[in-house]
Amino acid sequence: MKPIAEALPLFQQPKRIAIITHYKPDGDAIGSTLALVHFLRLQGHQVSAITPNDAPEFLLFLPGTEWLINAEAEPKKASESLETAEIIFCLDFNDPARVQSMQPALEQAKGIKLLLDHHMFPKPVFDYGESNPAKSSTCEMVYDFINTSGCNSCINLDIAQCLYTGTLTDTGSFRFPVTTGAVHRMIADLKDRGLEHGPIHEAIYDSWSTNRMRFVGYALIERMEIFPQWQAGLISVTRADMKLFDLQPGDTEGLVQYPLSIRGIRFSTLITERIDEVRLSFRSKGDFDVNHFARTHFSGGGHFNASGGKSSESINDTILRFKKILSEFHPL
Ligand code: 5GP
Ligand code: MN
Repeated sequence: MKPIAEALPLFQQPKRIAIITHYKPDGDAIGSTLALVHFLRLQGHQVSAITPNDAPEFLLFLPGTEWLINAEAEPKKASESLETAEIIFCLDFNDPARVQSMQPALEQAKGIKLLLDHHMFPKPVFDYGESNPAKSSTCEMVYDFINTSGCNSCINLDIAQCLYTGTLTDTGSFRFPVTTGAVHRMIADLKDRGLEHGPIHEAIYDSWSTNRMRFVGYALIERMEIFPQWQAGLISVTRADMKLFDLQPGDTEGLVQYPLSIRGIRFSTLITERIDEVRLSFRSKGDFDVNHFARTHFSGGGHFNASGGKSSESINDTILRFKKILSEFHPL
């Protein structure tokens, strides 16, 4: 993969560009994708943007979400835009498997593939790009890309809102260790351009349904187990639980963080039962590598302190296996 700066000459003429991000897009995936759409359109390019499935509702306040092609709803339109693109940006993922049903179309696409991503161990399928786990978010990398393109002054309020959203959500509200001075300088720059951060926090964090709030109470009382001897916590949620509270996509977001607020807990896991598989989310504090844990035991990956994986066993068997791993390997 060649450095992203070497790809800049490609953008001197208007191009057909497709942007794609990962399945179950989060704030960083949608924020970075939309910021880049706004920026590239300002530069005169023809841009389409694809999400492998729907964007969560709490992000729909962002400017430009109506442009997103949901590949689950419009598979033909999504694969056509990949097939016809001269340049394909891959944002916030580094393995084609993470675009789910779009994987074959992405792998077969003839366009030049550019990567901007901050996960570990990128697959060697990108022509140009930057893969940097030291970056807080893909949004920060899009900000850097805009600056490297020499157009800091192009950052308008739309772009600023998108970049702020992804950086906010991926840094746990500017809390995780990846929140460097450079992140704060970027936010200062966005503020100087007129960004209002209050309404963004409200849209993201104060937009819960009553059901979601009650579900969290239920999950903490009925579904959380704490293992002080392993400095670990586990929350497991069945499909019946989700049905009971009429949970919407995204409503389990953030649940995995709660055990980490207990004194002494440094490793937290959320196990959720989906229609076709069981998903696991891992979070840690300090020097326990959950990326390695997810890779080793649950065919997943992610970051050092935040990762995910899956299991094809039943939720009960997954929970049993998880506990066995904890007791045998004593990870902390
Ligand atoms: P979450 O727990 O929020 O679903 O995911 C946490 C982090 O782990 C995200 O940055 C995501 O990219 C990564 N991740 C989640 N699931 C998987 C997976 O199955 N494979 C890989 N490689 N990364 C994952
Ligand atoms: Mn990210």
